[in-house]
Amino acid sequence: MNEPMKNRREFLATVGAASMLAGSLGSRGLLGGEAAEKLAIDGGTPVRKNVLHSQPYGPQFYDDVEKQELLEVLESKSPFRWRGEGSKSLQFEKAYAQRLGVKHALGVTSGTTALYTAMAALEIGPGDEVILPAWTWYADYDAIVLAGGLPVFAEIDESLAIDPQDIEHRITPRTKAIIPCSLQGGVADMDPIMEIARKHKLLVLEDFSQCVGGRYKGKYLGSIGDIGINSFQLSKTITAGEGGAVVSNDAKCFERAIRFHDVGVIRPPYSEEFKGGILAAFAACNFRMNEFTGAVLKGQVQKLETICSKLRANARKVREGIADLPGLKLRKTADVDGDLGVTIFLDHGDRDRRDRFLRALRAEGIAASGPGGSVILPVDARIENKVTVHPDWPSFQSPQGKAIRYGSECCPRTIDIIGRFGGVIMDPNFSEEDLSDIVRAIRKVYSAMHTA
Ligand SMILES: *Cc1c(COP(=O)(O)O)cnc(C)c1O
Repeated sequence: MNEPMKNRREFLATVGAASMLAGSLGSRGLLGGEAAEKLAIDGGTPVRKNVLHSQPYGPQFYDDVEKQELLEVLESKSPFRWRGEGSKSLQFEKAYAQRLGVKHALGVTSGTTALYTAMAALEIGPGDEVILPAWTWYADYDAIVLAGGLPVFAEIDESLAIDPQDIEHRITPRTKAIIPCSLQGGVADMDPIMEIARKHKLLVLEDFSQCVGGRYKGKYLGSIGDIGINSFQLSKTITAGEGGAVVSNDAKCFERAIRFHDVGVIRPPYSEEFKGGILAAFAACNFRMNEFTGAVLKGQVQKLETICSKLRANARKVREGIADLPGLKLRKTADVDGDLGVTIFLDHGDRDRRDRFLRALRAEGIAASGPGGSVILPVDARIENKVTVHPDWPSFQSPQGKAIRYGSECCPRTIDIIGRFGGVIMDPNFSEEDLSDIVRAIRKVYSAMHTA
């Protein structure tokens, strides 16, 4: 994982040379002269003319591999997944399970339906409480509610993932599971979460939708909890436009997932693998993956490591290029080598400073943003007002459900943290020049803001 030092020196030399060309050096300020540069937002020359921004990752790596897999499905005239060993969806599942180091992987139609399937697999239902972070995607909350369960929010910390310290005091005799979400390429701190879960006999559902390919202490996300889910929607690491997966090492849990996603039944080859199944059918859904999706994902799994290592290498170069900025506070990470490096986010101390930093960075030609792809759920109107599909929906009928209060009072720290952080979304195909522009723009704006 470690880059040779030579590359780092060469890179820093490039950054230095680029600054030199811009004619900004000469004086030796606190930060090597950048402090003297006039910001583009104040009428100075921008670092770049055309704005640099990231693109969805997976499609950048589409090539003859995905094309060939898709063609084979078309030519087979057999786009339904239950067609034996030739199934692309099945081949994708086997490859994906092997890549993540889990026993079982099941392809489904989306990350959202993967969550519904996981709820069924874990037997979460009316009366059960599930702890999730206040900052994540709607689907984590909705899956709990649509299972009839009660979502209980915990605060995030400066990693933008659930704060393990904020979980335990939310556990009640009705708590059944915890959903740690690894968001925007960052990994949730799984060790303390697993320890709390084991101590209180809770199940752990990893949602690693935004960190597919991420690792925690050498293990792939999804292989640590009792069950894992992820999405293959366009904005995730690898994609078929839509799609999702459920992964688990537990055979019973996985059989429940198979049945729930396919009208309660278990078909070949899984019925053979599970010897007909140990469970009976139950009321279920249809979230089966189609063969076109399976074909593209079978191809994309082969690109996963390439995408992840390019992202990581690029993020490392930017981190190293700004590491000496005085007082710099980067987003916290539970595992810097396993982190995907999707974001270079700085803690700006408060929302005003964050917003000024982002505006100035954009003026320099670098797309910049605060945390995205998730929502501060407790302050979303339909959640704050506990709106369900039917007035008698079980989630909020129990004494606990009636008593629970969402809204800003239940997650002040999450609101504060999301308002403070901001920076650049990375891309696996950013060039050396792009990376040096990012470094130069961050240094320029940071220096100006910290000397003003
Ligand atoms: C994208 C996402 C989902 C939902 O996935 P879809 O495929 O869009 O249904 C769930 N959880 C998280 C954290 C996500 O980012």
